Parts: sequence; C-alpha cells; structure tokens
Amino acid sequence: MEYLLSKNVEYVCECGLLKPLTNLYFCRHCLNLRCFFCCHHEVDSHFCRNCLENIPSGEAKLRKNKCNTCFDCPSCTLSALSARATTIQVPMTKEVKEGGEGSEIEASSGKMVSKKMYYLACLACRFSSRDVGISDQPSQNFFWPEQEYMHAIRFNTILNHYYSVVLHDKQLKQEERRRRSTKQSKFPNMTDRTGLNVSAIRRQMGFDKSAAKPKSKPTAIAPSIAEDVDDLPEEIFTQPINLKNITTIQQRFTQPANQPESVKHLYPQHKNLSIKRSIRCRHCEHNVIKPEYNPTSIKYRIQQFASSHVPEVRIIKCDQLVPNKSALITLKITNPTMNDMIITIMDLPTEEEEKMMIEEMRKNFEKNLSVSNKSSLMRPSLIEDSRIVSCKITAKLELPDSSFVINQRDDSAEFDDDVQSDKKDPKFILWRKANKIAIQLSITPNGELKVNDDVKIGFSMNFTYSSVPSSTPEKKETQRYALCARIYINAGKIVQ
Ligand SMILES: [Zn+2]
Ligand SMILES: [Zn+2]
Ligand SMILES: [Zn+2]
Ligand SMILES: [Zn+2]
Repeated sequence: MEYLLSKNVEYVCECGLLKPLTNLYFCRHCLNLRCFFCCHHEVDSHFCRNCLENIPSGEAKLRKNKCNTCFDCPSCTLSALSARATTIQVPMTKEVKEGGEGSEIEASSGKMVSKKMYYLACLACRFSSRDVGISDQPSQNFFWPEQEYMHAIRFNTILNHYYSVVLHDKQLKQEERRRRSTKQSKFPNMTDRTGLNVSAIRRQMGFDKSAAKPKSKPTAIAPSIAEDVDDLPEEIFTQPINLKNITTIQQRFTQPANQPESVKHLYPQHKNLSIKRSIRCRHCEHNVIKPEYNPTSIKYRIQQFASSHVPEVRIIKCDQLVPNKSALITLKITNPTMNDMIITIMDLPTEEEEKMMIEEMRKNFEKNLSVSNKSSLMRPSLIEDSRIVSCKITAKLELPDSSFVINQRDDSAEFDDDVQSDKKDPKFILWRKANKIAIQLSITPNGELKVNDDVKIGFSMNFTYSSVPSSTPEKKETQRYALCARIYINAGKIVQ
C-alpha cells in the first residue's frame, strides 16, 4: 500500500500535473497519459452496494439517491443495519380475528402463540432500532417508519418554489430564442405557399398562441419569520456533560435534516446509492475506463490504466545524499506490456522547450476541434489547460550512454528465481529478470541544498509502444510507436 500511495516517483500528465503512475490513465487513441482532470467522468449506473440492486437513474433521482430497503447504522456510520428476527408471545385472539373466524371462544381460553417479529441491528456497534423506540415489524421487508422532520413542509415549499422558478426561466429563454430565430428557412415550406404559417393557422383555428402555452409563474412563498429563541436552560452551565450521550459531528452530518444532539435521537438512515463511473478522454472522447453494467461484477469492459501500458520506475536504493558529492541511485524499470520495449533515458526539456511543446499542443487541439466539429455532433469538451511542470530539479543526473531493451511480460517467468546477466549489457545495468531491469545512475545534489532538503531528479524516458490490434480495419495490425514519458523522482533528503 505504501508503494501505491508513495509520491517518490511521479509522471507528468500531458496537462503538466505530476501524478504517481497508479493515478494515471493511458489513452490508446491519443497515445498519451491522462490524469483525473484530463478525463470526463460520467455516471454509468446507480446501485445499492448493500443489496446490489441496480436502480435506473430516473428512479434514483426520485428516491433521492437512497436505497429503499437498506439502512445505515446512525451510531457507528460504518456498517449497514441488518434485520434480526425475534419471537414474541401474543394472545391467540389477534391471530384468529385476522383470520376472520369467530374469536370469542378463543379469546376466553387465553391461549398464547409465538409470532416472529423483526428489528434492525448493527453487527458492528450493537445499535438497534429498539434503542430509539421503533417498534418491531412483522416482516423484514416491511416499510420501516420514517422519521419526521420539523422543517419538512417548509423545505418542500421552498423546493417547489425553486422548481417553478427554473421552469419560468426556461420558458422565458425559449421564447427569447423563438423571437430571435425569425430567419427564413432555406427549404420551401408548404404552408408558406398558401400564405399561411403555423401561427396564422393556429389563430384561424381559434388556438391563440398565448392561450396554447400559458406561462407558468413562480409560486409565491411566505418568507420565513424570525422566531424568538428560548434562552439556554440553566443547568447547561452547571451540569457536567456526559460525552457518551452527545452525538459526534460525523453522526450529525449523516442526518442533515434534523442533526440530533443526543444519541437517543439517532435514527436509522436509508443507505446512499453508489455509482459506476466511466471515464472518457477529453481530447478524443474515447473511453479509458468502462465498467461492466452489472453491479455484482467488478470487471471492466475497457480498462486503460497507465500502469499496464507505460514502463514503471521504482527506487530500489539510494546512497546518502550530500551536496556536491556524487551518489549512486538504483532504479528498477518494469515493462508491463506483452512486447519488448527499447528504452532511452534522456534529459528533461528546458523551460523554453516546454513552452513550445504546450503551444504546439494547443494548436494541434484547436485544429482537431475544427475538423471534428464538422463531422460529428459531439460537443467540444473543455480541456485542462497545459502548464509548466512545477517541480524544481535539485540534482544533476548522469544519463546512461546507451539505450537498452526490456523483455516482454511473461507471467510464467514470475516463478523463475535466477537473475539473468547478459555480458553484452552496458555497465549501468545491474541485473535483469524477466520483464524487469535494474539500472544504476549517479546523481550529484546541488551545492545550495541544506540538511533535510528534498533531492529531486528528473528524466525523459523514451520507450517503444506496440498498439494492441483492434477490430477496426485501419488498426488491425500491431503498430509501433515511439512515446515519451517525463518522470520526476524524489531521491531522498540531504543528510549532512
Ligand atoms: Zn492531466
Ligand atoms: Zn439496498
Ligand atoms: Zn453501528
Ligand atoms: Zn484520447
């Protein structure tokens, strides 16, 4: 986990942000890294993560994004409540009366029968629906009583008011648009030949334009009136507080409508729905992540994580870092793809070069946009503005003098133990094993660094990438591309 969250090795996204490889996606249509901000995030489906029910988005909106049948524990706010069965003794009469048979004889006999009843309980913190006075229900699928809120009516009135305001605005805008678009259509109109247009026909038929569409007016609401607030009770200053009876901020936030102060008023809350999200590249509108629709499946239909396309760099070890003194750093590079990769490590671009790259990228994008606008109806998406990388390099890195090859990924080779050493390999390669390689480079931290300052190094890694053949005719064969990833590494802190 430490490795997944570690920020020691970061890759530059096309927009100039630095992210660990595990937080990046790879668009195989643009052949570029994409970060969270360079992608569209779309909600694919709503589901309850407790009962795994799939809920259409319209229905989810009606249900206020909550599951009808599942409840969250209001006390620990971590786990779901589960229905527990219990048996209670009830007089026979009740049962028989429900059955519609003659009851008087049975009632007088005073016989007791056992009946199954259900209550909600948390298996993590032992909270139960009985604690807050909810009576047991005869069926576990029974609708549990809803909590009543003091301001529910007021909130509904305000909500309706704003719905009508939105509707009114929409109608005004539509009218404005209609008035503006009086331009004649270039196509002949049948009604034009007869000298009649739609509004004239309507008028002849007795449908007046204004009568046909009555404009909705926002419903009026009474402004809220400030009420006198009671003084604080006397004992609040004198009585010691029992923190066990007072709710935490977390508990109050899970019940925003009434925010109870005492744990006695913690009420079971309907579970919030979860979503499945698909992620789309903003530059080409292709999906980089698309999950399976079914909520029980954790698989993806499309998954373009950067870590399965771009070579991964990790630090194995680094010598003690002292200003102006060279130290050795050992890096491991892994090839995640099913094809051999040729890797060349080069210097990072200078600031001028970086500015030129950004300018070129912007021009390319604008060109693509104007082309795609003509052919497709897709809305041009907003793209993240490119920026210069904010990280400052504080050490000189001695680059390896030649390129090297990393073998393809071979899952069966994982079990081989022997480290291969090739005599033809250049000196800086320490060892290679299956699709992994260890290289040793020398770094010299800058003279002005002080104790505990971070030593940052960086390089551009050029690598060959073979595209995965797809079903489309133009991409049926594997194509090889030369790609580049810019990598920034935090080698450690200055010790002396
Ligand atoms: Zn980005
Ligand atoms: Zn549910
Ligand atoms: Zn609980
Ligand atoms: Zn793309």
